[in-house]
Amino acid sequence: QKEQWAKLVNDSTVTKDGVHVELAANIGTPKDVEGVLNNGGEAVGLYRTEFLYMDRTELPTEEEQFTAYKEVVERMEGKPVVIRTLDIGGDKELSYLDLPKEMNPFLGFRAIRLCLEEKEIFKTQLRALLRASAFGNLKIMFPMIATLEELRAAKSMLNEEKDKLVADGVDVSDQIEVGMMVEIPSTAVAADLFAKEVDFFSIGTNDLIQYTMAADRMNERVSYLYQPYHPAILRLVKMVIDAAHKEGKWAGMCGEMAGDEIAIPLLLGLGLDEFSMSATSILPARSQLLTLSKEELSAFSNEMLTLDTADEVEKKVRAYLDM
Ligand code: PEP
Ligand code: MG
Repeated sequence: QKEQWAKLVNDSTVTKDGVHVELAANIGTPKDVEGVLNNGGEAVGLYRTEFLYMDRTELPTEEEQFTAYKEVVERMEGKPVVIRTLDIGGDKELSYLDLPKEMNPFLGFRAIRLCLEEKEIFKTQLRALLRASAFGNLKIMFPMIATLEELRAAKSMLNEEKDKLVADGVDVSDQIEVGMMVEIPSTAVAADLFAKEVDFFSIGTNDLIQYTMAADRMNERVSYLYQPYHPAILRLVKMVIDAAHKEGKWAGMCGEMAGDEIAIPLLLGLGLDEFSMSATSILPARSQLLTLSKEELSAFSNEMLTLDTADEVEKKVRAYLDM
């Protein structure tokens, strides 16, 4: 099987009925790009930048960040690279940022919430991203957006930094797509509103499932509630994809669910445009997608939304796939 997968490294991902979907990779550092290319990744769908900030004693400088982002977009040679702005706080602590302990870190002061308050930290990252945009196909994505005000505030800070750089004669791409993670239920439910103000969505199912089911993703005792195939999750995913398409935008997914062989047929059927996963899942996913028909799965997936339980959905998908 491994040998068969290897033959697909340079292929694009086209379903049995001729639909192209993009298979992208999640990365944490510039070093990971090698694995993306070796596994036939068509893009980086999620670059988690928090690793630049972790395991050190002070904030990374603009220059350090610029070097890392530039390296990634250059090594991807024009292929899309979605870079997510800092998603720190909550469970991911930084020793040099003195943040108070919280009762519910996953519901607390993290990610975009922190960045909109600690403006200097955010601006430094935005400037590094903007400067790196001149060297490849860089897209910017904001994590943990809950409200339109947050999205607008983040975008306006981005535009301000861009204008300053341009005024200083710095090269900045004028084609940067700006998107957001959909990982908080408020944004999935109101995806139609958000779709008007972004270029793309990327569904973060790791958090979206946690928040929809009210089940801590790190807590073993409630892990039975962590149900990617729950009809509620599938319905939210559909709402997000439909809202994006209605505005002519694309919708991807960068949570673990995107690389799951049971979920992939459902996501294809619901119209997902981009699947971002760990690099080692790309070739198995491509080999599966080549055998699937989007049109056939569209009817099937919509039927799955009407079932009662995650268990029933899983059984039906397994039967469909002959697994
Ligand atoms: C997610 O929440 O699905 C996601 C991709 O982000 P992270 O796992 O970094 O929270
Ligand atoms: Mg997340």
